Amino acid sequence: MICPKRTSELLDLHLAPFKDKDPAWEVGVSKIAGRGVVATRSLKRGEIIFRDSPLLIGLAAHEEDALNACSVCLKMLPDTRFMCRQGCGLPVCSLCAKKKQHKSDCDLFKSWAPNEPDVANSVIIRLLCVARAINLSKEQRDLIYCLQANLDNNHRTEVRNAAKCFKHFPTDKKLIEIMNRTVAVLRTNGFDKTTDRTNDNQEFNYRALYPLFGVVNHDCIPNAYYTFEDKTNTMLVRAAVDIPAGFEVTTTYTKLFAGNIARHLFLKMKKGFTCKCPRCSDPTEKGAFISGLYCRDTNCTGLVVPEISGLPHPNWNCLECKQKSTHAQMMKSQDFASGAINAKANSNSLRTLVQYLNEKSDSFIPSSNYVVVDAKMSVLQRLQVGREDCSEELANNTRLRYSRDITQVMDKLGLGDSLLRTQLEELLRREEERRAKRLAAEEAAKQQQQKLAEADKLLEAALAKDQAYQADQDQDQDQAQVGTSAGTADPGTAPAPPPAAAELA
Ligand SMILES: [Zn+2]
Ligand SMILES: [Zn+2]
Ligand SMILES: [Zn+2]
Ligand SMILES: [Zn+2]
Repeated sequence: MICPKRTSELLDLHLAPFKDKDPAWEVGVSKIAGRGVVATRSLKRGEIIFRDSPLLIGLAAHEEDALNACSVCLKMLPDTRFMCRQGCGLPVCSLCAKKKQHKSDCDLFKSWAPNEPDVANSVIIRLLCVARAINLSKEQRDLIYCLQANLDNNHRTEVRNAAKCFKHFPTDKKLIEIMNRTVAVLRTNGFDKTTDRTNDNQEFNYRALYPLFGVVNHDCIPNAYYTFEDKTNTMLVRAAVDIPAGFEVTTTYTKLFAGNIARHLFLKMKKGFTCKCPRCSDPTEKGAFISGLYCRDTNCTGLVVPEISGLPHPNWNCLECKQKSTHAQMMKSQDFASGAINAKANSNSLRTLVQYLNEKSDSFIPSSNYVVVDAKMSVLQRLQVGREDCSEELANNTRLRYSRDITQVMDKLGLGDSLLRTQLEELLRREEERRAKRLAAEEAAKQQQQKLAEADKLLEAALAKDQAYQADQDQDQDQAQVGTSAGTADPGTAPAPPPAAAELA
């Protein structure tokens, strides 16, 4: 373990431009692993714990058709003539072409002589973030070496492949070692336009190393979350829950809704450690049953969950009838369900997918299972763009129902704030508001209807009275006629206005 004190000194230098005068954190010995970031005072949910800036940042250049972004300001460029005219093999905008950063990148890559400097090559563009480590100060490079690196067999591949794209790639062992180490550190602690770092619904399209964040340890129920400031790419790390003084600040390196086995394998293979957090030690994942499957015994309604064994292929136990199943047996059920739901997700009809999730999938896979949760997340994402072939009512109901379902899963897991939760709660609030408005409108229409019906009744009653009065009059007249002829007219029966008609007026 690298001494926390040295890490702190180097981080202080890195953060000097914007470090808080009274930071709420320090680098200390961790209960989770090695060293970590510890809260020095109690933090309220939502409070900013620290800011970090990228020590290294560059284009991820994962897709061959999206290489037209500036290697300095990272903005997308018009499709033509975006390559540097000096022959460094990097895309750069006309403004950044004159900046110090590009001068340094340009000199480095020109000296290596790219084979085809006018053609945007993802291998060269991707390497830039790594190669920039060469021109960092000694302290900055020491900071890279301070961070955890998974030095597995694959970490040298990137630089080896990049070497083929230049005529004079350096052979100096020290330079190669710096780049290989940087690749390993980036892979262990960095961002790389991947979604595996988080399930937090935010896009970060670059390859970058945030060194202080790199010291933050993992927990499958993290107590902190991060966002990025758009213009500066500054990272803000906030408390997801109240954090008492002395507690370690944690983040998650995995998807939040991956099950125990998937998270275990990912952390082991990609990050090189085994997580021992409370969620990983609980086969039910705190009652959220993200891996849960139905019992193979059709007479049993219990859920089956994998044993906590640390093995990649653990046995599974039914919580109801206690029947044991092998991993292979349970994977058959999981694969079947995943295949069925993904087929619907890949078909072009969103309505079909929603109906399948609402009416069918529950019969063969518990709704807590990650494949269902993931499918609901993707439905919500698609609904954000448009409602496709769903009716407005179905779209609204689905937004309401799925954002409720997913926040419930988060609650069960004990997850605090995150960008995802904020988005879901906002969606929920909007849908509930819409629903309340609709109900209010329906209620108003109903009351209007009732008023009209009452008015109709009154009118009918008035008319009836009117008719009765008229009938009386006619009768009286007949009688009067009879009386006149008999000479006995009664002045007491003189006509008065019909009462009901008067009321109505
Ligand atoms: Zn630029
Ligand atoms: Zn250049
Ligand atoms: Zn864990
Ligand atoms: Zn059972």
